[in-house]
Amino acid sequence: MAEKHNCHGKSSHGVESQGKTVVEEEHDKTIARIKHKIIVLSGKGGVGKSTVAVNLAVSLATNGNKVGLLDVDIHGPSVPKMLHLEGTKLVSFGGKFLPADVGGLKVMSIGFLLPDEAVAVIWRGPAKAAAIRQFIGGVEWGDLDYLVIDCPPGTGDEPLTVVQTLGRIDGAVVVTTPQDLAISDVRKSITFCGQLNLPVLGVIENMSGYVCTHCGETVDIFKSGGGETMAREMRVPFLGRIPLDATIMAAADDGTPHVYHYEKTEAAKAFSEIVTLIDTKITAANQSKGDLIVMRIAIPTCEGVLSMHFGHCERFAFVDIDPETKTISGTTSVEPPPHEPGLLPGWLHERGVNLVIAGGMGIHAQQLFSQAGVNVITGASAAQPESVVQDYLAGNLVTGANVCDH
Ligand code: ADP
Repeated sequence: MAEKHNCHGKSSHGVESQGKTVVEEEHDKTIARIKHKIIVLSGKGGVGKSTVAVNLAVSLATNGNKVGLLDVDIHGPSVPKMLHLEGTKLVSFGGKFLPADVGGLKVMSIGFLLPDEAVAVIWRGPAKAAAIRQFIGGVEWGDLDYLVIDCPPGTGDEPLTVVQTLGRIDGAVVVTTPQDLAISDVRKSITFCGQLNLPVLGVIENMSGYVCTHCGETVDIFKSGGGETMAREMRVPFLGRIPLDATIMAAADDGTPHVYHYEKTEAAKAFSEIVTLIDTKITAANQSKGDLIVMRIAIPTCEGVLSMHFGHCERFAFVDIDPETKTISGTTSVEPPPHEPGLLPGWLHERGVNLVIAGGMGIHAQQLFSQAGVNVITGASAAQPESVVQDYLAGNLVTGANVCDH
């Protein structure tokens, strides 16, 4: 499967052009047809990384996106089992692998290489990297809105190869469980992202509390909340908690996506809120790059500059954008209504706002904004509203931690 390279770096299959072989150029073209890429990482195995990857991909597809799911978890590919694709064999056409199709979701797993689940493949380093590259660029993905990649746990060569092969990645979703050991492992994953300049979309705390099947109450079996504290300390967003739920395991064992078959459970609701947040973050981050035309941006202000505490701002600056020239056409300063929980998303939406740029905002508020059709960017610094918007329009807006995450 791997391309053979001679000592001058030329492919045995392709002719070099401008330093790239024909095969490498084909791979680049394949990757260019994928709009957004999300990688799912974890510090160690068994925390629910594949469960999150599968349910994230299915939810994004259910929301009307064209989605691919790639499982490169070389040492424990579990996606085939979770989607009832065990025994699927790799098929290629025109020199490319064809992904499996699960109700429109395109799925490719390194598990399709294994003769049966019980067989372990012993990979040598370079073969592993070549296989991963082939599974990304050498697959007929077609046009995709999202490619979700389930990476092997840890910070070894495999996630590094994925990051290097994919080019621009929208971000990483980092999965942890509430226990301290998993959390100390996951810190390494976040540092790894920082070293590779890979944005962290956020941390998910999985197996966080147990929803009792009899009374519906949530019981904290492991200490919950550690993931959120850790995210705050590491200055990365927290995306939410998914409870320990027997139906998640049952769905995985049956090969049926949980969010699809158990949509009324607390866990499925948690997945759906997290997916909305991820979708919103990616859409908002890409608006300034031309995906969407923003007409009115709201910035919470205190003493004329962006207020770090969204809930306590004195006024809002509404900055209007000329859709033709993508420049600021005017700014209005407006006093918000008296504080009332849940009021602002609808109030801003009614006033034509489709993006809020804030210093910090709690997850619940971000979810309410998503539901009201208003995107949110957090982590901006306390500057004049017009200068924040100019940076945003130029694609230079620097965002840090969600400073007021409550
Ligand atoms: P990883 O990819 O991190 O190794 P998996 O996604 O394969 O972990 O999950 C490990 C096991 O835990 C699977 O059997 C899965 O069904 C189960 N699991 C994952 N998340 C939950 C949850 N929130 N509640 C119950 N079981 C879960």
